[in-house]
Amino acid sequence: MIHLSNIHKSYVTGANKLHVLKGIDLIIEQGELVSIMGSSGSGKSTLLNILGILDDYDNGLYKLHNTEMNNLSEKKAAYYRNNMIGFVFQSFNLISFKNAMENVALPLYYQGVNRKKRNKIALEYLDRMGIKDWAEHLPSEMSGGQKQRVAIARALITNPKVILADEPTGALDSQTSLEVMDLFREINKSGITMIIVTHEKDISERTDRVIRLRDGIIENGQYN
Ligand code: ADP
Ligand code: MG
Repeated sequence: MIHLSNIHKSYVTGANKLHVLKGIDLIIEQGELVSIMGSSGSGKSTLLNILGILDDYDNGLYKLHNTEMNNLSEKKAAYYRNNMIGFVFQSFNLISFKNAMENVALPLYYQGVNRKKRNKIALEYLDRMGIKDWAEHLPSEMSGGQKQRVAIARALITNPKVILADEPTGALDSQTSLEVMDLFREINKSGITMIIVTHEKDISERTDRVIRLRDGIIENGQYN
C-alpha cells in the first residue's frame, strides 16, 4: 500500500540547511494499524506530510497503491489526496463558522456533491461517530473529543484507503484519548490503513506496529 525507499528531505532557510529525513525505507501494507514515534523535531510530521502528498521530498521513491508519487502534477496530487487519503490533526482543523455536519460534508463539496446529498451522508458519518445530536453545533460548542470525532468523520467521508493522523490525541485528556484510539481501531477493522503519529507510549501500544523515527532514519518497526 505504501512503499518508501530512501526518502530524503531537507529544509533550507536562508544559509541553513536542515537534513530531516536521511533515507527512510518503509513498507506499510493495506489494512495495517501503525504508529510512528519519535521525539519532538525528529521529522514525524514531515514524514506524514510526505505520505499525505502535502509536501514534497528531495530524493527517493514513494509509491502509494503501486503508483509513483514523484513529480505529480498538482491536479494528480489533489486527486490522490482527495480520494485515497484522510487526514486527522492534533488541532482538529475544523472551520469555526460551519457546524459539525457542514464540516464533515466539506470534502464532498469539493467533489461536487450537492448540498442535500452531502449533508445526508455527513449525518450518517456523525451517527457512526456517536455524535449525530451535535450536527447543528459549531466547533466552539463542542468538547475536544467531540471535535476530534467530527474531524474523523470528515476524514472518512470520502471513503479513503488510508488515514493519516498527526498527534490526534495530543489535545485530548487521557480518557478521551483512549476512546479516540478505540474508534481508530474500529475504523481499521473495516480495512482502512491507519498511520498515527504520536509521542505517547500508551497510544502507540494500542497500534499493531510501532515505527520509530530517530536521527532521520527508521529503526526497525516492531510489532506489539
Ligand atoms: P516532529 O513532527 O517530529 O516534531 P517536524 O517534522 O515537524 O518534527 O520537524 C522536523 C524538523 O524540521 C524540526 O527541526 C523543525 O523545526 C523543522 N521544520 C519543519 N518544518 C519546517 C519548515 N517548513 N521549514 C523549516 N524547518 C522546518
Ligand atoms: Mg509534528
